[in-house]
Amino acid sequence: MTIAVCPGSFDPVTLGHLDVIRRAATLFDRVIVVVMINFSKQPAFTVEERVGFIKKITASLPNVEVDAFSGLLADYAAKEDATAIVKGLRVMSDFEYEFQMALTNSSLNPRTETIFLPASIDYMFLSSSMVREVASRGRDVSKFVPAEIAEDIRKKLWK
Ligand code: ADP
Repeated sequence: MTIAVCPGSFDPVTLGHLDVIRRAATLFDRVIVVVMINFSKQPAFTVEERVGFIKKITASLPNVEVDAFSGLLADYAAKEDATAIVKGLRVMSDFEYEFQMALTNSSLNPRTETIFLPASIDYMFLSSSMVREVASRGRDVSKFVPAEIAEDIRKKLWK
């Protein structure tokens, strides 16, 4: 069985993330979307909220599961016996950091390969931070995140 891990902070999950998750789900038998808990970052949404949003929007994808983890991604991938870590790449500026992460992960866990999927053209400029900015001004974010979670995101961030 081929198993892929799709990691991220997903603060919050966007249509760009969902696009990468869907594409991974067509390439692998099982996809685990993992919310990585990073204690040095102060997220806008709790881990439970972020996991809940992803579960809601992937409910129709039978081979996708959602989890959360605080630790090294390479260790998580080894624990789950993952074939691949799947990451989306938007612009060249994503590349340097992602390449460094991929090399680190492969030296810690040579059994899991990192695979990059190019962002779809519609989502190239979409980021969680842009969604947070728009929602914090009380504006609708349903162009940027799945419709079923847009209102929860706006309500939580509107000050
Ligand atoms: P960000 O980099 O916006 O903080 P995450 O850490 O949650 O987001 O990202 C998880 C993965 O999703 C990363 O590989 C990131 O490059 C990718 N990603 C983020 N936004 C998009 C997008 N709009 N299209 C494709 N991939 C994306």
